[in-house]
Amino acid sequence: VISTGRWALYGSTTAAFGLVARSLIGHPVPYGASLGALGLYCGVLLTGVLDPRLSMYVDFENELPEQRDATRIALTFDDGPDLECTPRVLDRLDAAGMKATFFVIGRKLVDPAAKALVREAIARGHAVGSHSFGHPRTFAFLGEKALRAEIGGGRKSLEDVIGRACPLFRPPIGHSNPTVARVVTELGCRPIGWSVRGRDGVSGARVEAVVRRIDDAVTDGSIVALHDAAERDDRAPIAAAVLDALLPLLAARGLPSVALEPERASS
Ligand SMILES: [Zn+2]
Repeated sequence: VISTGRWALYGSTTAAFGLVARSLIGHPVPYGASLGALGLYCGVLLTGVLDPRLSMYVDFENELPEQRDATRIALTFDDGPDLECTPRVLDRLDAAGMKATFFVIGRKLVDPAAKALVREAIARGHAVGSHSFGHPRTFAFLGEKALRAEIGGGRKSLEDVIGRACPLFRPPIGHSNPTVARVVTELGCRPIGWSVRGRDGVSGARVEAVVRRIDDAVTDGSIVALHDAAERDDRAPIAAAVLDALLPLLAARGLPSVALEPERASS
């Protein structure tokens, strides 16, 4: 199946070549129109870099595979572990009988307490994945060597902690490009995006607004992106308070959260 984003990429690239061909063979395209077309084309390419839901360059899993006899979603938490917030998130999930997936930052795993938290999450039935080594905000602009260090290094830090292979990977801020796609394929990572975003990871995020945003958008199969830590540990994450309000709503709607399967479901 070809993603919407891939169609947009192929379609707009074909159109761009068409315009160039028209200028070369027939009448030159007016200056304003060609500038406009160039701007539009760059806009399409950039949207693909920023939004994993389009799967323009990387084949992200943005939803759970369809299941006939049960409805469920997957809550995911990025940027941890956080020694304060992650245990509170684990307690709330356990109390509700729900499972989640934690995408952890490699450099945070030097702390023995953070390592213990990752192992504890697994022992309590949750899944973990890598969220790069250092979570650079310039992730989409890194060269191939730096990307390999970020993606491979993050994965290795996690695998050293849990003692087994762990292909689940979510890029920082969900950014991707053709080089990310190449490195991810080469390293055998399994890229996970999202279909619903809590937007709880920004300063000033309000619990009620985050809960409403998720409750409005979530449906059977949704992968929901939340944060159990601040990327630079400079804010108190609101995930625990979000879960206090959100988990009863999900339970009432028959949408329990499950952990992402460690292996991709074969179809
Ligand atoms: Zn992140």
